[in-house]
Amino acid sequence: MDFGLSEQDVAVQAAARAFATEHLAPAARRADEDGSFDATRVPLLGEAGLLGGPIDPAYGGRGWTHIQWVLALMELGAVDSSWRGFATVQTCLCGMLLERFGTDAQKSTLLPQLTAGSSVFAYALTEPEAGTDVASLRTTATADGDGWTLDGTKHWITNGGVADHVLVFANADPDAGKNGITCFLVPGDAAGLARAPVEGRELGHRASDHATLTFDGVRVGPGDVGGGVGGGFEVAMGGLGEGRLGVAAGAVGIQQAALDQCLDWTRTRRQFGRRIGDFQLVQSDLSEMYASLESTRLLTLKAAWQRDQGESNHRAVSVAKWAACEAAVTAADRAVLLHGARGYTSAYPVERLLRDAKGLQIYEGTAHIQRIIIARDLLGKESR
Ligand SMILES: Cc1cc2nc3c(=O)[nH]c(=O)nc-3n(C[C@H](O)[C@H](O)[C@H](O)COP(=O)(O)OP(=O)(O)OC[C@H]3O[C@@H](n4cnc5c(N)ncnc54)[C@H](O)[C@@H]3O)c2cc1C
Repeated sequence: MDFGLSEQDVAVQAAARAFATEHLAPAARRADEDGSFDATRVPLLGEAGLLGGPIDPAYGGRGWTHIQWVLALMELGAVDSSWRGFATVQTCLCGMLLERFGTDAQKSTLLPQLTAGSSVFAYALTEPEAGTDVASLRTTATADGDGWTLDGTKHWITNGGVADHVLVFANADPDAGKNGITCFLVPGDAAGLARAPVEGRELGHRASDHATLTFDGVRVGPGDVGGGVGGGFEVAMGGLGEGRLGVAAGAVGIQQAALDQCLDWTRTRRQFGRRIGDFQLVQSDLSEMYASLESTRLLTLKAAWQRDQGESNHRAVSVAKWAACEAAVTAADRAVLLHGARGYTSAYPVERLLRDAKGLQIYEGTAHIQRIIIARDLLGKESR
């Protein structure tokens, strides 16, 4: 067993940290306050390999290991969850999924755009009446000549308002239940597709674009199916398997940022004639934050390592996603408290960490559903 990182791992990690410091950190607070998505950053991420990291170089990717990929996402997550989320949606939910399930034509046309960041991609699964219970989705794909017509509504779709390409999950055979679900590749400007921002202001991830997409007779052709007709449920779950690992990495990044902020602050803030870091209750908070960070970092790296070995990492991904996201919320919550009133304002980054961390508990399978997946896997199917 070797816990060390290779030279290349360290180089990927350092390059991602430098990118986040130079390109994301300076605008993170303003973008959060404005709620603005800045599309000009997308090609910069592509250039830095942060959209195609684990994808085959034949399609413009970097061929990084999954260990290297999660190390990079941890660095983005420590600085700006909105942009870590962007990279996760574009690369894990869309790119890795296209690489695994797409046709040769889809891969050679779309993946170079995706990895370069010259096109934005979205993954549209969630519907107003089908969130956790994705198999019950109501968007339909009705056979129409040699293609299909899509009708239905998706909501909370990251990048949905700006995407050039949307992976849309619709049911081509509702009588077959989840076996009718099919993944379609739809251009963002398709006739019959209307896009609008989600209702209300988001708690966190405010520099992301979140949209409601309405499909009203959107035509798709026979070449626009990814993963075969009826294969969409497996495609959707495949994307989530990759994406959840990215979310776990983002949650590790949030914990690192929360701890770093708190170490700086508790070394300098003085009360009762001493630095507050010298009070044992404060030390207890710091040491618990560190222990959670270390343990969830190892869980995330282990799940990535299993993926690199070609082993099934289904349970490990859910464990990492659940544990790291819970720990991120706790760490950010403590960080706000340790900063006192200052932590309660946007002048310090810890309140943004807390708001962003709450989103991680919800998307790509809630904290409840990760625990259900883990328990079902432990219990196995009952033999009757
Ligand atoms: C910031 C953000 C970005 C997102 N981006 C995307 C995206 O790009 N693409 C996309 O398709 N979706 C996206 N989503 C949607 C997200 O995946 C869903 O919100 C999530 O799956 C939960 O669905 P829901 O909101 O309908 O909640 P519900 O499914 O209605 O769940 C409500 C509550 O009930 C609990 N619950 C439900 N079923 C069970 C059960 N069987 N056992 C125990 N508890 C249960 C849940 O855990 C939750 O606590 C995003 C959401 C957010 C917040």
